[in-house]
Amino acid sequence: MIRLGWLSLSICALLILPLISPLNAAHGLPLNPKKLASELKMTPQTVRVKLSNLGRVMVIKGTDLALSLAKKPELGNIRADQWMIDCKRSLIIDPNTGKARVIPRSGVLIESISGILAINDRRFRDQIVVYPQDLLSPYDSKQRSNPECVVINHINMEKYLESVVNGEFNSQWAESAVEAQIIAARTYALYQMNQMRKDRGRVFDVESTQKDQVYLGLDSADSKAAQLVAKTKGMIMVGKDNKNLDPIKAFYHSSCGGWTALPQQVFGTKLSGFTRRVPCPFCIGSPSYHWEHVMTLNEMSARLAKGIRVDSANRKVWPKALIDHWSGYKLTDVKPIGGHYPDDRRDDDEISSKHASILPAAHAGAAQEPRVRDLQFEFTKLDRFGVKTAQKLRVKMDAYQARNWIDPAKLKSTWFSLERFGNTLQFRGLGSGHGVGMCQFGAKKMGEKGFSRNQILTYYYPGVKIARVW
Ligand SMILES: [Zn+2]
Repeated sequence: MIRLGWLSLSICALLILPLISPLNAAHGLPLNPKKLASELKMTPQTVRVKLSNLGRVMVIKGTDLALSLAKKPELGNIRADQWMIDCKRSLIIDPNTGKARVIPRSGVLIESISGILAINDRRFRDQIVVYPQDLLSPYDSKQRSNPECVVINHINMEKYLESVVNGEFNSQWAESAVEAQIIAARTYALYQMNQMRKDRGRVFDVESTQKDQVYLGLDSADSKAAQLVAKTKGMIMVGKDNKNLDPIKAFYHSSCGGWTALPQQVFGTKLSGFTRRVPCPFCIGSPSYHWEHVMTLNEMSARLAKGIRVDSANRKVWPKALIDHWSGYKLTDVKPIGGHYPDDRRDDDEISSKHASILPAAHAGAAQEPRVRDLQFEFTKLDRFGVKTAQKLRVKMDAYQARNWIDPAKLKSTWFSLERFGNTLQFRGLGSGHGVGMCQFGAKKMGEKGFSRNQILTYYYPGVKIARVW
């Protein structure tokens, strides 16, 4: 998803991925939990974070690093200050002796006595579990061509949050805003833990990227972050009527542009804790509050073709005739369907004040959803000489999915107007991110204005109460 300086639009929709099929015996993990490296040292507070972009060859360094293989617990005492992992050949090598072992499907666990270890000079805490590169293939089609191993950091939730603070927001913001965001981040991670562990074939709970929450390891933690995490220890958001302390799926995003969105509007699924969308006068003036993007129909067409190629789940709405004969059609128009955009879009200052002034009215009316619901693409059939015929083909696609295909970094939200001038498409938009849940820049401003963390959270998540799980 989109990064915006240190603020990222995060927490995308794992929700919208297709439901995972039951464990595939050919690719799955052993069913005996004692034979799974990932479960050797887990506690109820351990979160499993999938790391990315570590390369095909990893050097893991630390003091007295203990290597454990689930299938051979007696090997738990093999120690070295350095391990080398060759992902292409699925080998773990002791560089001192040159001895290599095959990384089993049940994984290897590496931990340091000091609690800190480094992978290619990036430092992490607690344990690292490494699985061979093909492990995730039944779950993640993008992983199939990825030559990297599957590397998971098993880390205590509170320590994890100390690093998320500066990956997702900034420990130097107003304290109540940072505390609110820590509680949202803990709630989200705990929700993912509950979901992912329903399927034992899954070896991680959250990704370390904008797909879930940005986690850069120990080097992004600081003392202020640690202090505010400690202050909110174990606090999460649960639905107002929930008695089981079930965490809500606490989505948040960079800036809402003036109105938050409901999960059912964006992801098509109702979720506990999100009872209504709320007007947000607080993120006005934040980066990406207004954005513009210009692209040609040809560029748009190329993005769509790529989406069709790589995203099998979302290409289902596309007609086979078009997929099979892409070059036989030309994209000739794109239209937004649904949504409501403030009228005056010319002058930034003027828009801000106008937009602010429409908030109460829009709130009173409340029925009109501001975000674009679908994008309609119009294709014109070409004859065998490449000349346009009168035959048109129209395809309607969910705007949130289409945005992910087109360019989520440039098309910052689905709240936009779209005008076509010949072959050029001009987008003007509001806000950055999906708009569901807490608006991070709005929360920042609320903190500066003196709102408490609970006021911030119950403003953006009107259906929640704060509970403590540990
Ligand atoms: Zn906002």
